[in-house]
Amino acid sequence: MNKVRVRFAPSPTGKLHLGNARTAIFNMLFSLHYSGKFVLRIEDTDLERSARVYEKRLIETLHWLGIDWDEGPDVGGDYGPYRQSERLEIYRPYIERLVKEGKAYYCYCTQRELEEERRGLLLRGLPPRYSGRCRYLTERERRRFEAEGRRPTIRFLVPDETIKFFDLIKGEMRFEGAAIGDFIIVRSSGVPAYNLAVVIDDALMEITHVIRGEDHLSNTPCQLFLYKALGLKPPKFAHHPLLLGPDRTKLSKRHGDVSVEEYREKGFLPEALLNYLVITGTVLERGREIFSREEMIKLFKLEKLSKSNAIFDLSKLKWMNRHYLRSLPLEDILDSLRPFLKEEEFKKLKENPKILGAILENVETLKDIPGFLDIFLKKGLSYTEEARDIIKQKGAKEVIDLFYQYIVANKHKDLMGILDEIILETGFKKRKVMMPIRAAITGSTVGPELKKIFELLPREWIVERLAKAKDI
Ligand code: GLU
Repeated sequence: MNKVRVRFAPSPTGKLHLGNARTAIFNMLFSLHYSGKFVLRIEDTDLERSARVYEKRLIETLHWLGIDWDEGPDVGGDYGPYRQSERLEIYRPYIERLVKEGKAYYCYCTQRELEEERRGLLLRGLPPRYSGRCRYLTERERRRFEAEGRRPTIRFLVPDETIKFFDLIKGEMRFEGAAIGDFIIVRSSGVPAYNLAVVIDDALMEITHVIRGEDHLSNTPCQLFLYKALGLKPPKFAHHPLLLGPDRTKLSKRHGDVSVEEYREKGFLPEALLNYLVITGTVLERGREIFSREEMIKLFKLEKLSKSNAIFDLSKLKWMNRHYLRSLPLEDILDSLRPFLKEEEFKKLKENPKILGAILENVETLKDIPGFLDIFLKKGLSYTEEARDIIKQKGAKEVIDLFYQYIVANKHKDLMGILDEIILETGFKKRKVMMPIRAAITGSTVGPELKKIFELLPREWIVERLAKAKDI
């Protein structure tokens, strides 16, 4: 195989959709698996909707997720510039050539005329394709439109030919030129449209494989016509199935959060999100779902992509997050946790990461962690309603008092051992002893294991909290 070169080509118009992140990951893994190069290209020719702040955020979000590239607007490379808005001069000679050779033409139809034509076709039950009525304008007609102040688009004259290609995921593909209307390659603003820019860029950047979502499949024949018309060599194509919502429609805002940023803010770990997106729609290895980055690179192949669409499953993502919260090194978790913490909390956890270890067993996301920190970091405590109710239940104060007396008398060193003795002594069920103690010492009815809390809390804090609980 020639040296592999792939690209991820987002439009910087908003947040990074989970489906697009998945495409980026597939491209990155493919390039790393075949020791190729991965290019980030910013498709910002939609000047009204694109913005630099989105690009900056996009780059930051991709890096957060663990996606890195070899060439791109931020890191440079031999095939730049990597922003389409900076390549307008590069496209110009190709456009001129197409027009000169009669493969493209100026179209003066207004939005309104096109809309009318569309409606007319739909009414007659015909596909709403552009009729090609500007295909053969005379010089005089053109001048008249110009004089009217109409600003033309440039359309590609689609040949009445069949386009065939082999998609590396979907297999043999075949499209009829006759079914495709002459499409716009340059907008009336003079800026090239997606299909043209993408072809010239992929060719000049020597992209060998275009791996993208199958929502782009209908663009591929248009692009292949352009490759042919321009005498450029097309890359290989691989259109992967999409990420769908539970109702099997394209994952969108209607289904809830759909961007990487939103999951980041909700406290998901990048490692979990990356792993989840990789296994959703691929089988890297039968019977396994957790993979290290190295394993993903080693095992990733286009053949391992499923041929059917993947369904987004939030409960699975949560499961994955819990898994990584419990298995990653504490320093890594602490790094991801930092934005959720106050500076003081971060410092204390860094000094005593065991506290984090104790909490992690009980949480689903990073966002759940700060709620448990006060137990370990603040001497004083506030009690939840539920905790107060438990403490007020019959027998609870008795248990709390016994525990208090035992500790103060220092009869027993091991606090869990004391609890066992209290169970024997009172004849209470285990729960009836544990719950009041938990409530008294943590102010809550849920949280880390008591055993771990005892190990991490200073004795005097425990005594003080027990005393305070007795007064509730
Ligand atoms: N800018 C296009 C998108 O964001 C890229 C499509 C492609 O990969 O060709 O969907």
